[in-house]
Amino acid sequence: MLSIIVPCYNEEESIPYFLEEVNKVKSKLHHELEFIFINDGSQDNTLEVLRQMHQRYPSELRYISFSRNFGKEAALYAGLQAAKGDLVTVMDADLQDPPDLLPEMVRLIETENYDCIGTRRADREGEPVVRSFFARAFYKIVNKIGETEMVDGARDFRLMTRQMVDAILELTEYNRFSKGIFSWVGFDTKYISYENRERVAGETSWSFWKLFKYSIDGIINFSDAPLNIASFIGAISCFGSGIALLFIIVRALLFGDPTSGWPSLVSILLFVGGLQLLCLGIIGKYIGKIFLETKKRPQFIVKETEKNVKREI
Ligand code: UDP
Ligand code: MG
Repeated sequence: MLSIIVPCYNEEESIPYFLEEVNKVKSKLHHELEFIFINDGSQDNTLEVLRQMHQRYPSELRYISFSRNFGKEAALYAGLQAAKGDLVTVMDADLQDPPDLLPEMVRLIETENYDCIGTRRADREGEPVVRSFFARAFYKIVNKIGETEMVDGARDFRLMTRQMVDAILELTEYNRFSKGIFSWVGFDTKYISYENRERVAGETSWSFWKLFKYSIDGIINFSDAPLNIASFIGAISCFGSGIALLFIIVRALLFGDPTSGWPSLVSILLFVGGLQLLCLGIIGKYIGKIFLETKKRPQFIVKETEKNVKREI
């Protein structure tokens, strides 16, 4: 069986198109299909659409509806937990992950013994220039400082074996960064490229600010390099100012002490103060993560599934 996990946030328009497209390639998949839609606290009629779709495909289509928006990572996790298939794939509802790649992906896993087939965008066409620039910078930085390799342009769309899914489910951390987790667990992964597509309907829910915060999470969750950098800068400035101090003392002893250099003094003070704040901020980020992690809150709360449908009032 092949499980298809689809996180949905305000996707009422996309879901019917999505099912239609997947059903087109169904005959080429040679697998029984299982759809698991996760309604991530949508504000539109996504849940209603899912209920209808379940009536239409009662044995194939399941859904999980959250009590509020918990984010795509939580939705993915819920889907992976619920999936029963021997092969599991994760897809966006907006058809930016083309279902026509699925038959080829299944073939690669079954005949060439890969554990995971990932996809990546061949280009970033149709994306704002600024966003591409920052995305590239993010992958450069994270691959340089982190131990976990993240592939530029890799999407969450991937096909995995049961073994790999079980490995991912063993990582129960609260702060999930899927791109990192997928590569952290290892296994043989092959990436296939395809051309970028626009979403069929609806709007992207990622603003620039959201993406920025997400990328900071990606760095903090998979690397302690920022802490090392902070300590390094601290050590260097300590050493440097020690030498400067010696120099000043010796100069005062030899040539007397003319009071001068207020502006430079103030700028140095401000510089060091800023540096300390920055380092505190970095440490604070990690402590914040630890705080959330120690609370051991659930990743998501389920309000409704196809098995316990709330009656219409
Ligand atoms: N999504 C979600 N929860 C969120 C935001 C997004 O489940 O809080 C889903 C969304 O419905 C879509 C997928 O994640 O299926 C990717 O989102 P989107 O298309 O907005 O992102 P983009 O493709 O622009 O990166
Ligand atoms: Mg999308």
